Amino acid sequence: MVKHEFKAESQKLLDMVIHSIYSQREIFLRELISNASDAIDKIYYKALTDDSLTFDQSNYYIKLIPNKENRTLTVLDTGVGMTKEELEDNLGVIAKSGSQTFKSENEIKDGYDIIGQFGVGFYAAFMVADKVTVLTRSIDSEEGYKWVSQGTDGYTITPIDREQVGTEIILELKENQEEENYDEFLEEATLKQIIKKYSDFIRYPIKMDVTESKLKEGTEDEYEDVVEEQTINTMVPIWKKRKSELTDEDYINFYQEKRYGFDQPLRHIHINVDGSVRYNAILFIPEQPPFNYYTREYEKGLELYSNGVLIMEKCADLLPDYFSFVKGMVDSEDLSLNISREMLQHDRQLKIIEKNIRKKVKQQLLSMLRDERDKYETFFKAFGQQIKFGVYSDFGQHKEELQDLLLFYSSTEKKLVTLEEYVSRMPEDQKYIYYASGDSNDRIEKLPQTEIVADKGYEILYFTDEVDEFAIKMMTQYQDKEFRSVSSGDLGIEEEEKEEEKEETESHQALFQAMKEVLGDKVKDVRASKRLKSYPVVLSADGEISLEMEKIINAMPD
Ligand code: ADP
Ligand code: MG
Repeated sequence: MVKHEFKAESQKLLDMVIHSIYSQREIFLRELISNASDAIDKIYYKALTDDSLTFDQSNYYIKLIPNKENRTLTVLDTGVGMTKEELEDNLGVIAKSGSQTFKSENEIKDGYDIIGQFGVGFYAAFMVADKVTVLTRSIDSEEGYKWVSQGTDGYTITPIDREQVGTEIILELKENQEEENYDEFLEEATLKQIIKKYSDFIRYPIKMDVTESKLKEGTEDEYEDVVEEQTINTMVPIWKKRKSELTDEDYINFYQEKRYGFDQPLRHIHINVDGSVRYNAILFIPEQPPFNYYTREYEKGLELYSNGVLIMEKCADLLPDYFSFVKGMVDSEDLSLNISREMLQHDRQLKIIEKNIRKKVKQQLLSMLRDERDKYETFFKAFGQQIKFGVYSDFGQHKEELQDLLLFYSSTEKKLVTLEEYVSRMPEDQKYIYYASGDSNDRIEKLPQTEIVADKGYEILYFTDEVDEFAIKMMTQYQDKEFRSVSSGDLGIEEEEKEEEKEETESHQALFQAMKEVLGDKVKDVRASKRLKSYPVVLSADGEISLEMEKIINAMPD
């Protein structure tokens, strides 16, 4: 038997595949299953153009066969199989992708789901196996072949008898090492879990014989082990289904199955885009923040799939920080992946998707605000602070984007209101949007500073979050109306009072001077005020920084 050597470059490459391309060794299974799925796709595609072939979905599947005795794991498929030449070309030359060739030869560009492209995935098998045997028969050949390799030393090909068209890949697992356990790849539970994680949405059934303990027939407490062939994967991803086929419950189930959260999402957003970057997405607006949401530990991100295969569990680039609460997934066939298929090569496509998602999330929030006010308030209680941080962050770059999502408690309405609602109620003579800051609505209500504004019949927004005033300072105005703190020196109310105040201050010069001396550094000035109705004294701030902001700034660590 002639032993073929891998070409020199191939040897180096193989070494790389085994030791450094993939971050996790369980990925080998994703790669072998993707190949199997591609092989079935190829029959499907051939059947489209070849009348002698029919594609009966039920004949096509992938099967995993763990064998504990022999310590082998077999991945079987009923796909196109390989001829001798194809074995040599595709498995004998690393970084040669038969699938890529198939795609270009058949001019498959659009909407077609063949996954392979780099010609390295197969060799990931050597991360977990010492020896790999491939038994295969091509749909175009009468003969079967056996390809065997123990890694870097090369491979052999011999003819075999084989009736079934398709491929079987048999992995002889590596010996367990002290810290590396390979037996786990023989465990049904582990295999199920890996399939669910990476390959749940492969379009063909991934089957496995599963042993389950079941109640023995005719008995009440005797159990027996029953072996049953099960399909492990979900196959049709919910995001590829039509929206009209899906109920709210389907989305909620998906949210819970995926463990995006333990709450019930307030809204789902199902996006199918056929634009310059094609993608599907299912996004959720949760009801509750995760326990670590407002900490550094929280990681934002969406799951990223390429053609139904999981590429990244938390792709942060798909969400702006101010929408970091959004959960869900994106699947696109237009991503240019790097060789490990764990990262993207260009972020142009991601940028387009991110922008789109941002728009959709905002639309949905606005529609919730308009049509389901209670729900929106629940949302805002959970994530409003993040929106306000968004207004403030990046030097106010996003303030326009976010300003209509803000809610503040109103002194006159006694409930949360939007800035738009506030402005629409402003009497003609009201110059500013007034706000008052404090620890709670109750405390703000008792502030002497609110009195004169409230007396005028003007509405005051209550700021109880530390970030409120910072955000508003960043906005400076809304619909051309400036914000003004009730403790500001200039409230824009009745100019003549200013004159009176000045006169009164002058006539009591000596008293105010004495008070100033006693208070020293604590105040800048003491003067008469026309603002007071039922309180004898009020503190007011000059300039940009209000008293509340000053407190926060002073409390910040240096
Ligand atoms: P890629 O999938 O990126 O092309 P792989 O290293 O995973 O690269 O596979 C190399 C090639 O081997 C594939 O393109 C395909 O032509 C062939 N191949 C691998 N597995 C199978 C299979 N189960 N059935 C048929 N052909 C396969
Ligand atoms: Mg592959």
